[in-house]
Amino acid sequence: MPRGAARLLDLPEYPLGRLPERKRQLIARGADVIDLGAGDADLAPPRVAVERLAEAAALPAMSRYGFGLGLMEYREAISRFMQRRFCLAFDPLREVVPLIGSKEGISHVALAYVEEGDVAIIPEPGYLAYVGGSLLAQGDPYRCVLKPEKQFLVDLDDIPDDVLGRAKILYLNYPNNPTAAVAPMSYLEHVVALCREHDILLVYDNAYSEMAYDGYRPPSIFEVEGARDVAIEFHSMSKTYNMTGWRCGWAVGASELIAPLAKVKLFVDTGAFMAVQAACASALDASESFVPGNLAVFRERRDAAVAAFRDNGFACESPVATMYLWIALPDGVPGAEFAELLMEEEGVIVLPGSSFGAGGEGFFRVSFVTSPERIREAAARAGRVLARMTAGARP
Ligand code: PLP
Repeated sequence: MPRGAARLLDLPEYPLGRLPERKRQLIARGADVIDLGAGDADLAPPRVAVERLAEAAALPAMSRYGFGLGLMEYREAISRFMQRRFCLAFDPLREVVPLIGSKEGISHVALAYVEEGDVAIIPEPGYLAYVGGSLLAQGDPYRCVLKPEKQFLVDLDDIPDDVLGRAKILYLNYPNNPTAAVAPMSYLEHVVALCREHDILLVYDNAYSEMAYDGYRPPSIFEVEGARDVAIEFHSMSKTYNMTGWRCGWAVGASELIAPLAKVKLFVDTGAFMAVQAACASALDASESFVPGNLAVFRERRDAAVAAFRDNGFACESPVATMYLWIALPDGVPGAEFAELLMEEEGVIVLPGSSFGAGGEGFFRVSFVTSPERIREAAARAGRVLARMTAGARP
């Protein structure tokens, strides 16, 4: 029987690969499951997007191939959004690439840039598409551990010169999944300077650019002078508009830098469903009326989650961005075991830090994707598991 390629053996287990099936089994067993695993909220997409999708899906022209160009209206809405939100101009035809979810582009960008043996610098813990894309392109991942004492920023000064010399890509993601950290402008300036000096492509994953609280407004990497020479920025419709399943996102950057990604895509996909692109254009144009109300719901969930987990014996910061709490476990409590017991014994799904790479050990991630009441209930159950584990007593 033909065997899969050896390069697949290097890939880590995908954290959300087996969970949906585990969840199904728990529900079938009658467990009261609270799923705080995936960053996948139970909230509705903008009404304007749903209505537009229904209308557009009825038009035969929308059912045809989108090809690389896709729907011009979507490209133009992206360009308008980037202008309104960040005061940045991007040519809709030459400087925008529509994506089938940002993950698709983030993982394919390595195929466009990385050659066998090239180094890809990867934050760890981090979104697994970085390491996955690099390994599939036969690159050599260099993992930088994000540490609380460094505010979960990649410590650029810690990367050896020979690694920088061989590096082709640096993946960076602020606001960050899973740590919820944000990056100051001075840090981003340092990153851009370093990438320019070493001719490294900066893959700036801005999936959470609109998910911020308490007055914080995440920047675009292109607000840093010179970033257009080295960076591609990735955006997502998923989190901001509660549209994870719609699979739509985009990349922006200098035409020379995004052209290789667009070329890869010509050979692996033929564009997102154009009715979805039309709906996304409508959602983007309505961002100012939709996003603040949606964020207020997330802020209430965040506050509930922070208070509830603290009340139940956990240490966590209140994040100013993303939909995650990154919670430290007491010394000696292994994250994977904690998450497993929490799921099996209490029906609560969270992700152990190590599922984002070994550098995430000692933490777990909670997504505030359900109601405050259910989050409080989940925190109480998590507290019980922690108490049992630290007391060494198994039921
Ligand atoms: N980037 C980060 C950091 C994420 O956490 C996610 C999803 O969880 C994505 C990108 C991918 O989002 P999508 O492919 O839904 O646009």
